[in-house]
Amino acid sequence: MRGLVQGVGFRPFVWHLAQQAGLVGEVLNDGGGVLIRLQSGAEGLMAALRENPPPLARIDALELRDYADLLPESGFHITASAGGAARTGITPDAATCPDCLAEVLDPENRRYRYAFINCTNCGPRLSITRAIPYDRAHTTMADFPMCPVCQGEYDDPANRRYHAQPNACPDCGPQLELVNAAGQPVSGDPLDQVAALLKAGKIVAIKGLGGFQLAVDACNEAAVARLRARKHRPGKPLALMLRDLDMAAETVVLNGPARDLLQSWQAPIVLLERRGALAPSVAPGQARLGVMLPNTPLHHILMRALDHPTVLTSGNISGDPQITDNDEALQKLGGIADYFLLHDRDIANRMDDSVVQMIGNTPQTLRRARGYAPAPLQLHKGFADLPNVLAMGADLKNTFCLLANGRATLSQHMGDMQSPAIQRDVRHNLALYQQIYGFTPARIAVDMHPGYFSTRLGEELGEVTHVQHHHAHIAAVMAEHGMPPDAPPVLGVVLDGLGYGDDGTIWGGEFLQADFRGYERLAHFPAIALPGGDKANQQPWRNLFAHLRAAFGPEADLRARFGPLPFLEALEAKPLNMMGQMIDNSLNSPLASSAGRLFDAVAAALGVCFEQQRYEGEAAMQLQALAETCPTETGTYPVETDRALAWENLWTGILYDMSEGVEKNRIACRFHNTLAQIVTQTALSVAEKRSLQTIVLGGGVMQNRLLFFAIQKLLQDKGAIVLAPIDYPANDGGIALGQATTTAARMNHL
Ligand SMILES: [Zn+2]
Ligand SMILES: [Zn+2]
Repeated sequence: MRGLVQGVGFRPFVWHLAQQAGLVGEVLNDGGGVLIRLQSGAEGLMAALRENPPPLARIDALELRDYADLLPESGFHITASAGGAARTGITPDAATCPDCLAEVLDPENRRYRYAFINCTNCGPRLSITRAIPYDRAHTTMADFPMCPVCQGEYDDPANRRYHAQPNACPDCGPQLELVNAAGQPVSGDPLDQVAALLKAGKIVAIKGLGGFQLAVDACNEAAVARLRARKHRPGKPLALMLRDLDMAAETVVLNGPARDLLQSWQAPIVLLERRGALAPSVAPGQARLGVMLPNTPLHHILMRALDHPTVLTSGNISGDPQITDNDEALQKLGGIADYFLLHDRDIANRMDDSVVQMIGNTPQTLRRARGYAPAPLQLHKGFADLPNVLAMGADLKNTFCLLANGRATLSQHMGDMQSPAIQRDVRHNLALYQQIYGFTPARIAVDMHPGYFSTRLGEELGEVTHVQHHHAHIAAVMAEHGMPPDAPPVLGVVLDGLGYGDDGTIWGGEFLQADFRGYERLAHFPAIALPGGDKANQQPWRNLFAHLRAAFGPEADLRARFGPLPFLEALEAKPLNMMGQMIDNSLNSPLASSAGRLFDAVAAALGVCFEQQRYEGEAAMQLQALAETCPTETGTYPVETDRALAWENLWTGILYDMSEGVEKNRIACRFHNTLAQIVTQTALSVAEKRSLQTIVLGGGVMQNRLLFFAIQKLLQDKGAIVLAPIDYPANDGGIALGQATTTAARMNHL
């Protein structure tokens, strides 16, 4: 049996089934899987396992074989692993299971209100792992010898805690401590105290599973505003933790799949439509809130004492990753948090909360970390014999990917590589993952961008293959959908921020004919200057200027043509002559066919983030949120049938609407509708010319679900087969998967 079957309580689970059925035989870990040997009854047991596997397990393959050698005469046993140390891998951290939750809430239980309860079905895994084999000595639980009672549970195959490495109780396990900002202990029950402090509007730093979090009452505007001011995080939405599903139903709009996802053992942050009243500064300008349910015993106990949603955002200073160490937290978060809830179990590996959005009833992963990493993706069997590849990802939202034995293992989300702390994280995790999987790369896959830190780090590590950014986006989706390495070409439509093109310009609105081995650029968005280079990524008005200039020419008199448009005065106050000359002379004004910058320009025209984006993607997210307040609008601007990929008509339509006083949300919606039509029309036309049956959608801008949904529907209505990212992020967080698979396929071909 292969799959995620080790370290997930599989053997005790089989042992229980076998006991119930009175089977004779044994179960053991074996290589990358689990081996069950039986005198009889194998079919029944396999059917039972297939029907109802242990909660954290994932069975990829079940195989039945005859054995000639001797079995135990009677009974069913859990036997030591065959062939010495097996590579068991590491499973993702799992949210508290119902059995442990029942115990932690039971005043009669010895783990009543114990914040570190866990079992083989739940608890910390990757976040506490220092090395393999995965046993207690190699985790941050090594400092906590088990008491006799816990040891008894650990040794008993019939117990839910049989070989549960983080097993602990109040007598032998980690302990909580509450301290003030000066590091002085606060007396009383720490969790009761934290609840009281939050109710009183205080900011509390909480050492969570994979890092520190900052908590504050989400209904207390003064407190949330204070957190934002202290954290220097003016606009970016803050995630919430909700006590239970009832509170979730009051705070956001829930449907069945969203409920299932919130309650799953991965327990991600899910983006859902807001409904309840919260402090305005929780998520300014956003129609959706990122919400999660308690996923550790600590959070369960704490949330039960709170009647309001709680802001729970990562405990870091701007640009840096979440802090994991007690002393560092006190030092660096001392100016932000009023109190610190600490504990004495170390966090070995930083782990952010995962983020998932719902596209209708389908979850789509936006950030993949806690609960998901490092579970591997089983690729098409054609990848099984290809060389090992390590892919380094991109510099934003960095993840890396190990491809070996037909499986792709994507690291947890680490973040943006400008931060030296994230660079250290990447190096640390690279070493850990390589050790966990006994992995040695035959080739390193990197982005084509020569300035990327990830590219340079890859070059330090070995022989590299450069993979074009958007080709990698497409390959990632192909890999996720189980396509073979020699799959026929697809049409990849990638709407993205910025990615390095093979012609030295910046790409980001691409129609590529692609298979795993190569690609051809069939069409792309018009290349528009980014006046000021990097500054144009942060200041949407620069894109507005460049777009209007490209659409109407440098001499155009917009005032004469459209009247006094609301943005004109602000735009004319900028040094436009100088910027025009910069563009004409190609001075610090690289050309980019970026979908992201088109969104920025349209946002700026509507007065959304005109001057400055406070975080990456803010203008586009706000523009989407604005459009989503107008769900019935179906209008579009005229699209030229033979020249769809030109923006003159689009801009004429937008500016004309503005001059007529059409509401901004309606214009935002018409822009989305029109762009979906332009993209669809172009895609269908180039796909037809090349007889491409399958259309793959990807890139960060495709996470705009309004646009994505419209494109997907228009394409499907025309009979196209559409593949889109599901479990791996459409943005650069998923790009390493594409880099790895395309490189392996190419090496095989040479
Ligand atoms: Zn449990
Ligand atoms: Zn104990």
